[in-house]
Amino acid sequence: MKIKDIYQNKKAVFSFEIFPPNENFSSEKLYGVIDELSIQKPDFISVTYGAGGTTKGGTIEMASYIKNKLNIEAVTHLTCVGSRKDEIENFLNELERNNIENILALRGDIPKDQDESIYDRGDFLYASDLIKAVRATKRFSVGGAFYPEVHHENNDLIDLFNLKKKVDSGTDFLVSQIFFDNESFLDFRDKAEKVGINVPLAAGIIPVTNAKQIKRITSLCNCKIPKKLERILNAYEDNNEAMYQAGIAYATEQIIELLSAGIKGIHIYTMNKTNAVKEILENISSIRKYYE
Ligand code: FAD
Repeated sequence: MKIKDIYQNKKAVFSFEIFPPNENFSSEKLYGVIDELSIQKPDFISVTYGAGGTTKGGTIEMASYIKNKLNIEAVTHLTCVGSRKDEIENFLNELERNNIENILALRGDIPKDQDESIYDRGDFLYASDLIKAVRATKRFSVGGAFYPEVHHENNDLIDLFNLKKKVDSGTDFLVSQIFFDNESFLDFRDKAEKVGINVPLAAGIIPVTNAKQIKRITSLCNCKIPKKLERILNAYEDNNEAMYQAGIAYATEQIIELLSAGIKGIHIYTMNKTNAVKEILENISSIRKYYE
């Protein structure tokens, strides 16, 4: 099923994001993670592609397992920075062979071993160019990324208008960068509606179960840590169990507030871990039923 149709048919959509196998995370281990995540009955699972300059292998393999073995909708991320049209076409053909109908289309960042000249070597400048190319095939539902606290290369107004261009080029749904401040997210939603962005928005939620990891991620993602979360981090950063419990509570509260404010998509960045996802979804089981 296409993600576009899932959003049309459901009152709230719950999805997970995983990253593909790498030298520290084997395929076997990841199959186990996906099996456990599937117990939570997500509406879809997305698999990243070369994120953070890492290897691109394994994305389709994992998405295929999700879709064809577990019968859960799969989304493959796809970046276009430095890519030629034929490479993208090959990737799309491979998706079709694997029965995968959904793509999160991204520009991507400069890989670790390269410099800015990569932007000139490919056939696509922005994610919207990739989205147009994928749409032209008429084979996929296409999503894009958005940044409720602004993409680091731009100011908020320019970024918002660029996002509008991206949606107008054929985006069916948008998935957000991680954020911890619901007010910023909801303000962004209101601004987006005012400029005519009216595709479903999925809020990117990451459970803060490890203070050090979150400090590293927030500096990479350009997202702010609200006072409320800062106090929690300062209080519990040296106690793993307390931090874990507080992180689950924070993410649970974030999700409840967003759903009650009318946000349709909750996209959990799992970091290939299952316990936190399970606990959060148990915490909101009645709320999830309410949206069925
Ligand atoms: P774009 O939408 O192209 O935007 C990039 C910048 O260009 C923005 O500042 C925007 O304002 C500007 N811009 C856009 N269009 C125009 C235009 N027409 N004219 C002028 N300026 C323009 N990276 C990976 O490598 N692999 C992944 O799997 C991956 N998954 C991600 C998933 C999510 C949900 C998110 C939020 C990010 C993900 N990323 C991933 C990171 C992403 O590739 C980077 O954040 C990248 O810097 C921007 O990608 P984008 O698709 O948002 O780019």
